[in-house]
Amino acid sequence: MSQARIIPIIGGGPAGMSCALWLKNYGLSPIIIERENALGGMARLSPYPNDGLLGRPGESAQQNAEAFARHITQAGIETWLGARPRQLCRGSDGHFTLLVAGDSPPPAEFLSSAAIVIGVGTRFAGQEWLDSVENARSMAARGFVHVGAPWAAEPGPEPGSHVAVIGGGDNAFDVARMLAEKKVRVTIVMRSERPRALPLMVHRLHSFERAGMAQVLAGRKVRALEDYDRRVRLRLDDGSKLDADHVVLLCGYLPNSDEAFFAALAPAQDKRGYLVVNGNAETSCPGVFAIGDIANPLHPSIASAIASGAIAAREIAKRISDSLG
Ligand SMILES: Cc1cc2nc3c(=O)[nH]c(=O)nc-3n(C[C@H](O)[C@H](O)[C@H](O)COP(=O)(O)OP(=O)(O)OC[C@H]3O[C@@H](n4cnc5c(N)ncnc54)[C@H](O)[C@@H]3O)c2cc1C
Repeated sequence: MSQARIIPIIGGGPAGMSCALWLKNYGLSPIIIERENALGGMARLSPYPNDGLLGRPGESAQQNAEAFARHITQAGIETWLGARPRQLCRGSDGHFTLLVAGDSPPPAEFLSSAAIVIGVGTRFAGQEWLDSVENARSMAARGFVHVGAPWAAEPGPEPGSHVAVIGGGDNAFDVARMLAEKKVRVTIVMRSERPRALPLMVHRLHSFERAGMAQVLAGRKVRALEDYDRRVRLRLDDGSKLDADHVVLLCGYLPNSDEAFFAALAPAQDKRGYLVVNGNAETSCPGVFAIGDIANPLHPSIASAIASGAIAAREIAKRISDSLG
């Protein structure tokens, strides 16, 4: 492999995989560095039907992720699973040096490259909620509280007859509707007076609200959780209580931009920690590209992640072919 053509891609979600494929097609040598033991990112966690990806009707996002990973293997793209960047810096020649540690490759490996691609995505928010609500951590450890949307659709134990959904965004309303469709009664508890969710998502719950299968408690916060006869009792800040079989936290997402390897280059972030990029998906550090959800797309999705990977790859290939002549 020619060293001059190596492009490390940190993160093996849909954005990273798409970028790798395009770079490979442009004659470069992408290396995907993924901290988990499988490619796929957030899409790998979603058992929900994904009706938004052109050409893949009837598949879940999980199945999309599996298809993408198969494609990466078939294309012979080098992938380091269980690997994490430890240090990233730029030398006086303008090239980046990336130290990667993990299971494969060997414990520590240095990569030198003309460009770096960051596609580290987001994680579920909710840890703060678990810390601030009395007893929440212990109830989570006992399997009553679940962070993120996947639990509600995963095969496994039944969700029970009543689920409390915490949050007021698209995910909260969508998951509530899906549970109600499965004949599970749902109560949404949200801090704000009005939902952040799209009106369409709110509207879709209305028929279940009218049928007594769903209710929305606005302007309320959960103060404490209690074990109540093998169910969970939610104590709310208005003094009321709610008994449920499970609690699902749908408090949004946080960008994975807080790892130590970002420190030396410190690409500009917005006030929520997302990386700021230009139209070529390049950050404020020339040669460092950020793709997919970490760059705060207007519509975080598999389609937009794939598109941004392709955009970054095009720009990188152009620069490298210019420099190699
Ligand atoms: C429950 C759920 C359902 C969804 N359903 C849909 C849907 O139906 N349709 C749709 O279009 N979108 C859906 N999405 C959104 C979609 O999955 C994301 O928009 C998409 O996966 C973003 O891709 P990404 O590559 O930018 O980031 P991610 O998918 O988050 O991938 C980032 C990758 O980077 C890795 N990583 C992070 N930090 C490091 C590090 N330091 N070192 C190495 N690797 C690292 C992570 O492990 C991960 O594999 C869903 C998301 C969720 C959570």
